[in-house]
Amino acid sequence: MSRQGQTTRHADHRLRVARRVEDLSGSSIFRINAKAEKLAGQGRDILRLDAGEPDFDTPKHIIDAAKQALDHGYTRYTPVGGLPSLKDAIRHKFKRDNNLYFDDDEVMHSCGAKQALFNTCMTLLQPMDEIVIPSPHWGTYPSISKIAWARIVNAPTYHEHGFVLRPEVLDECLSDRSRIVVLNTPNNPTGQVWSREALSALGEVLLDYPDVFVVSDDIYEHLRYTGEPYANILNVCPSLKERTVVINGVSKAYAMTGWRVGFAAGPSHLIAEMQQLQGQSTSHTAAVSQKAAQAALDGGLDTVHDMASALSNRAQQVADGLAEIGAIDCHPAQGSFYCLPNFQRVIASLDGVDDDQQLGDWLLEELGIAMVPGSAFNAPGHMRLSFAAGSETLGNALERLQHAFA
Ligand code: PMP
Repeated sequence: MSRQGQTTRHADHRLRVARRVEDLSGSSIFRINAKAEKLAGQGRDILRLDAGEPDFDTPKHIIDAAKQALDHGYTRYTPVGGLPSLKDAIRHKFKRDNNLYFDDDEVMHSCGAKQALFNTCMTLLQPMDEIVIPSPHWGTYPSISKIAWARIVNAPTYHEHGFVLRPEVLDECLSDRSRIVVLNTPNNPTGQVWSREALSALGEVLLDYPDVFVVSDDIYEHLRYTGEPYANILNVCPSLKERTVVINGVSKAYAMTGWRVGFAAGPSHLIAEMQQLQGQSTSHTAAVSQKAAQAALDGGLDTVHDMASALSNRAQQVADGLAEIGAIDCHPAQGSFYCLPNFQRVIASLDGVDDDQQLGDWLLEELGIAMVPGSAFNAPGHMRLSFAAGSETLGNALERLQHAFA
């Protein structure tokens, strides 16, 4: 719903909306998407570096499994937590990929990782509880926190520190009002991966705050380009298991964004409450999607590695191309399919462009490049560049940027 749509709605008192909805700001991601589509519709050659999903197709063996599932009658309600076979696949995934062992009552599926996160926050947060969100961050974290009437505490990470959260910054942000800390590595929007050492230092701090839950959003786990094995907070600080919820899903790793399957793993008493909540909203994702996700998780990691390897080449292409532009600083992506170049010097050099929002419009109108302004992620002065786009598109975009700013 656009802001304009909301304003129209507010003008009519019969359609007055609840505060929790009114407070949600329209995302500038959708604004840039819409503007890019409009310009493309007018015949402009727009290079789309604003995508939040892989530009790959769901692997064939997963589609085939879904077709078979339909033929076998997977068209009905399922248990709220998920089909037993899907839950087994989720538990097996955690064992295989993360060396984490969960019982059946410690895992559940949801409609995307987003709903798993929503369930977690709505189950844990009382109004005015604090949620610590390292920033830059995915815009959904603060939005869900607002719906829960929680207080958002931004824990800043800085370009000069490689966007890694420092333990002393986390410590400053925590208090006896804190209820949740969100960790997201590989990160949207920075593209950075937090090392075992960095996570371990954060874990040390968290040991001093026993009432705080950790939400580990691992959705980009498989999309990494550094060669280092993946680690989340539980791998380096296992004693946090009783108060950690690990969130993951098939959307990004298996190019399955539209199937809407995510999952959460955590203490059984919390998972039970999250299921109660989900049981009164969506109940579950479609049975056929659950069977497709099961096939994805059980089907090994070959297709995931193929996609990650193609994305790794693009990460390098973007890093090399941006490195040639002195006015733009960027940490090469180590994971996810984003990087977050700093455009402050470009903004300062352009007449009529005062911030990243205006730069987003300028880049679209003048260069035909769609990127999401960093403010959408609490990173003013930056732009999020998504390389979920073909390397030809990336090459053309880099050329246009070089031509304009080198
Ligand atoms: N976490 C992060 C950091 C994301 O970027 C996204 C998708 N943009 C999600 C979670 C949600 O993924 P899903 O499609 O599974 O809901």
